[in-house]
Amino acid sequence: MPADCIFCKIATGEIKSEMVDRDEKVFVIKDIHPQAPVHLLVIPFEHIASVAEIMKGKADLIGRMTLMANKAAADAGIAGKGYRLTINCGGEGGQTVGHLHMHVLGGRQMRGGMG
Ligand code: AMP
Ligand code: ZN
Repeated sequence: MPADCIFCKIATGEIKSEMVDRDEKVFVIKDIHPQAPVHLLVIPFEHIASVAEIMKGKADLIGRMTLMANKAAADAGIAGKGYRLTINCGGEGGQTVGHLHMHVLGGRQMRGGMG
């Protein structure tokens, strides 16, 4: 793991965070700067720099993250009304933390548009 990776440090407990769920491959935390009433991050324990690093052998991980995101949305009580799952990739994709993560956003009407 890169020495300065925030999400690796959260994974090991070196940095504290509010973990709401986990399994053996992925964990879910509350985003520190929430953009919506519900803003969670689904993060693999393994350090993978971005979704662009997902090769054929790792594709299952994205499915697993999606299942965990759906569960987190249901647990947060927003599954019925709808929610947004987002993976930002690279600089122009808006990625600011270089460890793969999926945003779960909801609890208000998401705005249309993609940017
Ligand atoms: P992205 O811009 O897609 O890379 O998203 C990174 C997200 O990580 C942002 O929404 C940040 O608010 C969030 N974040 C950064 N540091 C922490 C932290 N220590 N605990 C929880 N969320 C964090
Ligand atoms: Zn990492």
